[in-house]
Amino acid sequence: MQDAIILGGGISGLTTAYLAQQRGSDISVVEKSTHAGGPIRSSSEDGYLYEKGPNSLLLPDPWVESFIEELGLSDQLQETNPIADKRYIVKRGRPVAVPSSPLQTIFTPLFSLRGKLGFLLEPFREKISERDARTETVASFVQRRMGKDFLDYAIDPFVSGVYAGDPHQLILKHAFPLMRGFERDGGSIIRGAIKHKKKQKREGTAYKKRSISFKEGLGILPKTIARKLGNRLWLNSEVVAVDRIDDTWQVTWKRDGENFKGLAKKLIVCLPSHAIKRIAWSKAIADPLEASPKLTYPPVHSLALGFRRDQIQHSLDGFGVLVPSQETPTILGALFSSSLYEGRAPEEHCLLTVMVGGVRHPELAALVPDKLLEIALHDLRPLIGLEGEPTFYRCSSWPHAIPQYTKEFGPWKETLRGLEEEFPGLHFGGNCIDGIAMGASILSGKRLADLL
Ligand SMILES: Cc1cc2nc3c(=O)[nH]c(=O)nc-3n(C[C@H](O)[C@H](O)[C@H](O)COP(=O)(O)OP(=O)(O)OC[C@H]3O[C@@H](n4cnc5c(N)ncnc54)[C@H](O)[C@@H]3O)c2cc1C
Repeated sequence: MQDAIILGGGISGLTTAYLAQQRGSDISVVEKSTHAGGPIRSSSEDGYLYEKGPNSLLLPDPWVESFIEELGLSDQLQETNPIADKRYIVKRGRPVAVPSSPLQTIFTPLFSLRGKLGFLLEPFREKISERDARTETVASFVQRRMGKDFLDYAIDPFVSGVYAGDPHQLILKHAFPLMRGFERDGGSIIRGAIKHKKKQKREGTAYKKRSISFKEGLGILPKTIARKLGNRLWLNSEVVAVDRIDDTWQVTWKRDGENFKGLAKKLIVCLPSHAIKRIAWSKAIADPLEASPKLTYPPVHSLALGFRRDQIQHSLDGFGVLVPSQETPTILGALFSSSLYEGRAPEEHCLLTVMVGGVRHPELAALVPDKLLEIALHDLRPLIGLEGEPTFYRCSSWPHAIPQYTKEFGPWKETLRGLEEEFPGLHFGGNCIDGIAMGASILSGKRLADLL
């Protein structure tokens, strides 16, 4: 019998498995796809290095950096290009740089005068009770504290860029717990943020978060862990049933039409919520799971588009451009990928990564790559002064991209926590419970490995 079986070989399951193995545990990982790492996949073709899923890893704390070092990937690590510091948001059909200083905020055309005056009042606005905060949406919080302008032209596009989601549906305390903490502990976002910084300084935990990638793209991270796991990683293996037998866990998975079984003392579940619900569990686990609400995962298409640099008038001097839902373009936004990281496009060429779909446009899930390209080009032409056709185009589609931390998330999380309490040795992690960023999933893997 093994120490643990880990369901799901996304970055959370892989991290758990690697750390557990390093600490001497006997483990297996069972992954449905032929690739490890979930959506974290990079590809190099025709001189372009593009990402099929995530584009950047925001290092959340020093531990993740040391983990990368432990994996032997430090010399692969790639910092963002300083040229990509700017972020653009579309206003009246034009990309406008997001202000990065108080002076720029005064003069930016992104917000109205009334909106700007509204920000100044933020520290003086009443905070709401813990009870009311339980169900407050991101939109309601932002509008209450910062005003509608800030919601429409800062948070709405930001939420679309991070969650491919809708601020009117996401619950603040789950989707952005730090923000909720600022208001709760400091009485306002600004005072809370200052208090938080001071606390980190006092405790010696201050860390400047920064976005990174790798010279071969983010895909090298799961690839490296998968290589280290060797035959402990079962690819192309779909978990179909889990039985609790006395104090142990029996997992059944299907590979090439054949059933395999494994027995372990502990069960670590790093699967999407819809996959968790689909498994045939022992009845005592199946019943609460069936009664709990489902999380929504909107579809997202990621379009890698290459152009000759002289086909685009815009300076591409930024991270990319995001589209507020108020504006007309259909795309959610475009990353200036070759500005962001070196080595993404051939000489005199550039690479853009365009996101389409999300909660805003789930109806686009069914469109074929040619049609998606048409939409992207139609939107990009006026936005960045684009002429002609792409020299390179690849489309990666994610029918269930990112879990939405909406009103269903609280009861869902409670169900999983309840099952963990009732069944010793059962643990859940990954982005259906521990946060949706890659960094959060890596930290989730660490948390789970510490439980083994
Ligand atoms: C298009 C896109 C862009 C993104 N951009 C960013 C970004 O720039 N930065 C960022 O930080 N995050 C980004 N994210 C989010 C981030 O990539 C994910 O939240 C993170 O990788 C999730 O890792 P995980 O291990 O928690 O889950 P997953 O990667 O979803 O892992 C779950 C695994 O379970 C497997 N599985 C499912 N069912 C079964 C079954 N029955 N049996 C066995 N295995 C099964 C799946 O194949 C999958 O590999 C993006 C996501 C997408 C889709």
